[in-house]
Amino acid sequence: MSGSGYVGRFAPSPTGRLHIGSLLAAVASWCDARHHDGKWYVRMEDLDPPREVPGAADDILKTLAAFGLHWDGPVVWQSQRDGMYRSALKSLLGSGHAFGCVCTRRMLAETSVYPGTCRLGLPEGKSARSHRFRMEDRLWSWNDQVQGQQHAQASQSGDFVVRRADGYWAYQLAVVVDDIDQGVNSIIRGADLLESTPGQMALREVLAPQEAVSRWGHLPLLVNERGQKLSKQTQAKPIQPSRASELLILVLDLLGQPVHRSGIDARTPVEEILNWASGHWDIRAISPKDRQWHGDGHSTRSPKGESE
Ligand code: GLU
Repeated sequence: MSGSGYVGRFAPSPTGRLHIGSLLAAVASWCDARHHDGKWYVRMEDLDPPREVPGAADDILKTLAAFGLHWDGPVVWQSQRDGMYRSALKSLLGSGHAFGCVCTRRMLAETSVYPGTCRLGLPEGKSARSHRFRMEDRLWSWNDQVQGQQHAQASQSGDFVVRRADGYWAYQLAVVVDDIDQGVNSIIRGADLLESTPGQMALREVLAPQEAVSRWGHLPLLVNERGQKLSKQTQAKPIQPSRASELLILVLDLLGQPVHRSGIDARTPVEEILNWASGHWDIRAISPKDRQWHGDGHSTRSPKGESE
């Protein structure tokens, strides 16, 4: 894909400040978009107030700007788009692609895949607690720019929740409605979201049949010594804007880009580093294997990644 047809995005959840793992996803999606003369949007996925940290959203935006990762257009806030999610659910219910469900977490505790309990209708006198998307049982395939050819049988994910029992919109519904609305056709993000991809492809096919995502890329994760993805929960440290150039170089190196042969160093301004990175960007140079992160710029190949 070339020219201004490319539309990509970075979609952080404001559950904490940016850490090195989220910077990696931001830099890769930014470089891929800019390399294709594309648009790069920032969407704040603030849909889950109990998990959000006050001030994190503003901090994320300030940090992106300090790292030179400038976005196109206004930031989209999911918390302000209730009407869009509501009308998408209405249309899914109207066409039979979604159904109400009375199952509680406890009722489903024994199974990792939804067994289809409420697919054919609710028990007499019961009203829906949540709503689920009816996932057609077929094989979903895509050529992932980083992970290679992917195949997933829909029955592995089952009918997933689009509106939660606590009344909040599910990530799966919001992300697809927003990607369609924003014209996003290229999605570069962390490999922790690989499992969500078939459901998102299916939902998108129903809501916008002619507008499939044409470019998927799932990036390797930075993991701690226990193999867990770096996150606020695993005590990942926030990144410091005062070290922006140094950290950009580190992340580009982790992404397999030959930054150490470019003459760039920690004194180079961020704009200059990113200009080089988008010009020389090669997504095929990214290793799909997770990396173990030891902090302070030190990483090794994850033992888990190596045995795969
Ligand atoms: N908001 C999601 C996260 O922070 C990312 C969503 C996406 O890129 O599709 O994990």
